[in-house]
Amino acid sequence: MTGGPTLTCLGAARTVTGSKHLVQIDGRRLLVDCGLFQGRKELRERNWQPLPVPPESIEAVVLTHAHLDHCGFLPRLVAQGFKGRIFCTPATADLARIVLADAGRIQEEDAERANRKGYTRHHPALPLFTSEDADRAMARLQPVGYERPVPVMDGVTAEFLDAGHLLGSAYARLVVQATGRTLLFGGDLGRYGRPVLADPTPVTQADVLVVESTYGDRRHAEDDEGAALAKVVNGTLARGGKVIIPSFALGRVEELLYWIATLEEQGEIPEVPVYVDSPMAATVLTAYRKRMSELDEPVRELAEAAAGGDRVAAERRLCAFTTATLHVVQSIADSRAVQESPAPSIVISSSGMATGGRVLHHLVRALPDPRNTVLFAGYQAPGTRGHAMRAGAAYVRIHGQEVPVKATIDALDSLSAHADADEIMRWLGGFTRPPAVACLVHGEPEPMDALKARIERDLGWTVQTPGHRATVAL
Ligand code: ZN
Repeated sequence: MTGGPTLTCLGAARTVTGSKHLVQIDGRRLLVDCGLFQGRKELRERNWQPLPVPPESIEAVVLTHAHLDHCGFLPRLVAQGFKGRIFCTPATADLARIVLADAGRIQEEDAERANRKGYTRHHPALPLFTSEDADRAMARLQPVGYERPVPVMDGVTAEFLDAGHLLGSAYARLVVQATGRTLLFGGDLGRYGRPVLADPTPVTQADVLVVESTYGDRRHAEDDEGAALAKVVNGTLARGGKVIIPSFALGRVEELLYWIATLEEQGEIPEVPVYVDSPMAATVLTAYRKRMSELDEPVRELAEAAAGGDRVAAERRLCAFTTATLHVVQSIADSRAVQESPAPSIVISSSGMATGGRVLHHLVRALPDPRNTVLFAGYQAPGTRGHAMRAGAAYVRIHGQEVPVKATIDALDSLSAHADADEIMRWLGGFTRPPAVACLVHGEPEPMDALKARIERDLGWTVQTPGHRATVAL
């Protein structure tokens, strides 16, 4: 590569998954994020294609956070020859270990099932990576605290700033020592005024800015302090039913538990058994509890007061991401007992779009009973059971049987961890001068183009929206 520094988008370019930003400076290479493509088949197939540069020629990875669409390609990158270090915050290191071990195991199980049942074009079907690949990648993690610049490659330092999107989430600020130029990679941008996580850190300038645009054309529902959730829970309990919440996304279970505990404490809902049915949930909850000091007030204040011997604070459930009666279900046998029990309760189980996982077993039992509610807490992609139920399907097919949808179907749309268009504009509004290069990534074309137009109109910047594998001169 000749000429000045460049950025090549190897993922999340006019789409929302597969974040991989290749930075080349004086012929040296580093990668910001190393995510998996998810969703449509033609996107998922990109996970099998070779990268345009040899993985061993990349000197370092700088990782913004632990969601799979940002870190899920790391095991494959290492298996293909990457030998550098993976810089991230300590909390991101904890969470990445959990999610990648889980993803490796699922990949292995899926390949094994495909081979056993013969539903594969590939003989034999292979996992994209194994849990052993995940372990090998995690040995390369180099945790670095927030706001501590460290050298990541000759002549380049990286610093993490709290992005408020997930425990440990960050923007990565790269500084090229020779020129003093700063490159700010926004990762995923969090939200303002939400519980559990801090607001996104304000930034005033960068020479190069790369920022997400997931909700570039939308405004999230007004914050209602849990009122919508309380209404659903109270209505369902009054009928003697169960609330089933399909949810998986790392961080969302913690926010749900925060709201349930708050509503219980305020007497807005009765104390009710809550089951989190997911083998991974317990370890993620432990990671959150361990890092209370990195979270938002009031969680942080309560944790500090409790640590200082304040007994009232120590007993507050918010502080431990627990509710009056929280059960984290691990074994299949315990999961089955919860599925079969008709007793009123709240069940949070994966997957979030009801495409697989243990929640399907809960749905088979719960859907035919009009006393129950299925409450969706996240985006439902077209083609998923979640999307069909939200659209009013009378039946859904689960495990080969037609299950009648008699339960109430509801949705909470205020739980997104991504900034909406107004919040992105608020954050960009902190810049005191326009970046020389501003790129939008991590968005579908429609919201991305809408946000580009809005930034150009309201802020007067020039905005680029590079396509897949396109290279931008910095
Ligand atoms: Zn994310």
